[in-house]
Amino acid sequence: MTASNPAPEPDAPLPYIGITDDTYAVYAAKSFTVTELARGTLVLRGPCPRCHALIDIPVVSSIFRSSRSAGDRLRAGAPKAAEAGHDEPMMCTCEDEHPDRPEGRSGCGAYWILTISSPPR
Ligand SMILES: [Zn+2]
Ligand SMILES: [Zn+2]
Repeated sequence: MTASNPAPEPDAPLPYIGITDDTYAVYAAKSFTVTELARGTLVLRGPCPRCHALIDIPVVSSIFRSSRSAGDRLRAGAPKAAEAGHDEPMMCTCEDEHPDRPEGRSGCGAYWILTISSPPR
């Protein structure tokens, strides 16, 4: 009797699939917060667009470190430099249960690219 029920189990774990989707980046851009731990070290924190686990993604980018001096120098000749974004490839790093996950990996397999605007200061 219950075998004919077509509704998926709400708490069945998502299988690990290496997958991306345009909506992941859009979702992450809205939901993730950026915290600056130190100059040049950012942490992106938010829910995975696919499995919704809360994840932290540290970003150590030379762009942020160098933008200060380079930006000051470039400003006179190239005012757009300060507004340039930085495309950061991200992937889910959750510790949740995802069947079919390769040994030694974390996350649900979702990946996307988040564009980070350079901090204004
Ligand atoms: Zn997950
Ligand atoms: Zn995930």
